[in-house]
Amino acid sequence: MSDCLFCRMVDGGIPADVVLQTDRVLAFRDINPQAPNHVLVIPKMHHATIGALAEADPALLGDVVAGAHAVARQEGLVSGDGAEPGYRLVANTGPQAGQTVHHVHLHVLGGRGLGWPPG
Ligand code: C5P
Repeated sequence: MSDCLFCRMVDGGIPADVVLQTDRVLAFRDINPQAPNHVLVIPKMHHATIGALAEADPALLGDVVAGAHAVARQEGLVSGDGAEPGYRLVANTGPQAGQTVHHVHLHVLGGRGLGWPPG
């Protein structure tokens, strides 16, 4: 979609600090990080929300989640030895959750203790 910010990042029209890319998924650093590690993982194909993506293409949703885990590993947040700090995935959906970009994205957050419940 030409009027979608994240579609423009996928097609290169708007620059992104890319940390990981496959043929179906793009991951880039959030421009306004909320934690020492804050990366957004998106499907290259446009879907507005995580629910819409789950209904339309569950395999692609799986690719996005796998991409998020790969980013977390790359960022040093998961190692598989049980000693890793860990990370949080967030998918804001709709106005009350604070979704501002209507192209589904997983926030990968880590690098500090994350409070619960979220704000
Ligand atoms: O979940 P939400 O829709 O609010 O998240 C959108 C995210 O996209 C924000 O964290 C914002 O900082 C990020 N963003 C970005 N680059 C832009 C515009 C927004 O990383 N050019």
